[in-house]
Amino acid sequence: MEKYLKTRYGLKLVETMGKKSFKVALSICNLSKPNAKQNTHLIAMAKVPDTTHNMQIMFEDLKPEIESLQSFTWRGKAMKVFIFGDYWFLCKLYGLSGPSGLHPCLWCETNKKDMQKDQLTGSMPKKRSLNSMQENLTQFLASGGGEKSAKHFKNVIYPAMLDTELDAVAPPYLHILLGIVAKHHSHMERDAAILDQKILEERAKLSNLSRKNMKNMA
Ligand SMILES: [Zn+2]
Repeated sequence: MEKYLKTRYGLKLVETMGKKSFKVALSICNLSKPNAKQNTHLIAMAKVPDTTHNMQIMFEDLKPEIESLQSFTWRGKAMKVFIFGDYWFLCKLYGLSGPSGLHPCLWCETNKKDMQKDQLTGSMPKKRSLNSMQENLTQFLASGGGEKSAKHFKNVIYPAMLDTELDAVAPPYLHILLGIVAKHHSHMERDAAILDQKILEERAKLSNLSRKNMKNMA
């Protein structure tokens, strides 16, 4: 990232959900403390929940602004906007039906059933792009657009609200970490149970041995 920022300005677009209001802020990654309050600029706020409909209204205004920012150069450096937010927000922003759909990943077309298998075999599912998602959406709408049929169209049910490609969308750290921690915990429990079993077996062997020795001595 540091290398990247030598030739470009990185702008971080973040969504935060407060008490009954939702906010979109922009901060500059090239500063030493990009997340500090004084370096974060509120660019939109609405006292409504961040439903798809409310987001569509807000991003209709923000989209051209963000596009013009990205075509702007300042002191010889171009600007690039990166998107941050929780996973639900990102799904809605790009028109996916949500994290519980059959194709829940924003970055690729894997489906829930193949996810584990892909991990084991190391096979790479097809990456999503703004174009592929637009194709999915066109087909979804042509089919009648019922939400139940979303799974047949990679779970794309709305148009993306921004033109920012998915390589500029940051995977939510907390979301990934929760999964890793849960997996680690269940592996640890499984290993601890195996270890417990082994200790019991060893103890049983030892006590049998000492009983035999006692007999021999007697
Ligand atoms: Zn994926």
